[in-house]
Amino acid sequence: MMLNLPEFKVISKEQNEHFYKFTVEKEEKPFICPQCSWLIPELSFFEDDVKMEFKPHQVKERIVSDISMHGKAVKLLIRHRRFRCPSCDGTFYEVLESVDRGGKVTKRLVEHITKLALKKPFTHIADEYGISHTSVRRYFEEYVAEQESQRILIAPKVLGIDEAHLNKVMRGVFTDNENNMILEITADNLKRTVKQTIQRMEGWQNIEVATIDMWSGYKYAVNELVPNAFVVIDKFHVIKYANQALDQIRIAIKKGLGKQEQHLLTRDRYVLLKNKEDLKPQDVQKRDMWFGHFPMLAKAYWLKEDMRDIYNLSKDRYEAFQRFYAWESSIPNDFKQFKDIQKTFNNFKQEIFNYFLQPFTNAYTESVNNIIKSVEKAGKGYSYDVLRAKVLYGTRATVKKPKFQKDMEFQRFDNVLYNMDGSLKPIYIDGDAPELVTVGTDLTTLSEILERGEF
Ligand SMILES: [Zn+2]
Repeated sequence: MMLNLPEFKVISKEQNEHFYKFTVEKEEKPFICPQCSWLIPELSFFEDDVKMEFKPHQVKERIVSDISMHGKAVKLLIRHRRFRCPSCDGTFYEVLESVDRGGKVTKRLVEHITKLALKKPFTHIADEYGISHTSVRRYFEEYVAEQESQRILIAPKVLGIDEAHLNKVMRGVFTDNENNMILEITADNLKRTVKQTIQRMEGWQNIEVATIDMWSGYKYAVNELVPNAFVVIDKFHVIKYANQALDQIRIAIKKGLGKQEQHLLTRDRYVLLKNKEDLKPQDVQKRDMWFGHFPMLAKAYWLKEDMRDIYNLSKDRYEAFQRFYAWESSIPNDFKQFKDIQKTFNNFKQEIFNYFLQPFTNAYTESVNNIIKSVEKAGKGYSYDVLRAKVLYGTRATVKKPKFQKDMEFQRFDNVLYNMDGSLKPIYIDGDAPELVTVGTDLTTLSEILERGEF
C-alpha cells in the first residue's frame, strides 16, 4: 500500500540500510491480446468458449527504480508475466502501465527526476538515484521538448532586448518589461535572430515600446518590423558607458603615478564608480582629497555624475537635451574615452531621450544575467540548450511546497481514483484542468530560487 502504485499488488516488502525492495506483480490479468485483439470472454460480444483464457507462459523478474522513500532508494522487483493467447497462440508480456518505456524506471520517477533536473545538476540526481547522468539528461531533454511544443510566446507591450554572456557567447535576452518576465534566450544576438524571435511572438505587430541597449542590430530589427514601436535606450546602459569611460581614465592616471602617489589611491575604483549620493562621509572626504591632487580624475568623475544627473534632474525631454548639450561641450578635447561615448550617444540620441517620454528600462535584464551566471556555475559544461532550458523552465516546475496544515485539503489514496500509471499528475475530476498559460518565466520567482541556492 505504501507504494501507492495501484497497478501492482505487493508480494513482499524488504529493506536493508540502503534500499527498500518491493516484490510486486500486476493486480489484473490482461484482457486483450496485443497481437490479435482477442478479448477475454467476460468482455467479448462473441460467443467465445468460456473456458478460453490467457495461459501463464513465463515470469521474468525485472528490477525497476522508483522514487526514494524515507531516505532509501526504492527498487521494485516486478514479476513480469508472459501469457499465451488461446486464440492466436502467440505469447506476449503484460503491459506495465507505471513503468517507463525503457523498462528501468517508473514513469513517476521520470517525472520526479525531470523536476529535479530543472534546478539541480544532472550528476547530483544521477548519484542520488543510481542512474546514469545521460539518462537524467535524456529525461530532461524530453521534458523540454514537450514544453517547447506547448509554449506560446506572446508579444509583450513593452519588449526588452538585451544581451547576456552564456557559454562565452553573446546571447539575446528577451523580456517583458511591464510584467518582469523572461521570454526567451537566443543562441546569438544577430539582427536576423532578433527579427526571427520577435516574429515568433504572437501579436508582435502590437509591440508598443522596445527598450534596448546601444547595439544597432536591435534598433534596426525593431524599426524594420514594427516601425511604430517606440524605441528607448536603456538608461542603465548609458550610465554604464559613462562609468566605463571614467574607469579607463582612472586606470590611465594611476598608471602614470609613482609608487607613493599610487598608494594614495586605495579603494579608488569603488569610491569613484559608486553613485555620489551613496558615498559615506569619509569616502567623500577621501574623494575630494584625491581631486585636489588629480584634477583630471575630478573632471572625469563629474562627467560621469553629470551624465547621471541628466536622468535624475531633468523634468522632461527638452530639459534633458539641454543638459546633454552642456555635458557634450564640457568634455575636454584630450578625453578620448568620453569623446568616444559622446559619439555613440549621438548615434542613439533620439532613442536615449525617448526615455523621458516612456521611462522604461531593462533593469530586469540584470537579474536575468545573474540567474544565467549562477546556473552556468552550478553545471559546468552544460550546453547552451540545457542552460537556456534551465533558466526558462526552472521556475515553472518548482511550485513551492506549502506549509503543512492539519486542516488542509487531503485526498484519501487507499480506495479512491488513481492515475493508473501512478504518475504524479493530479486527477481533475470536474474537468477543470488547469489552464495552460506559458507566456514567460517570472523573474521574481527565479530570483527567489537563486537565493535558495537551487539550480
Ligand atoms: Zn492473440
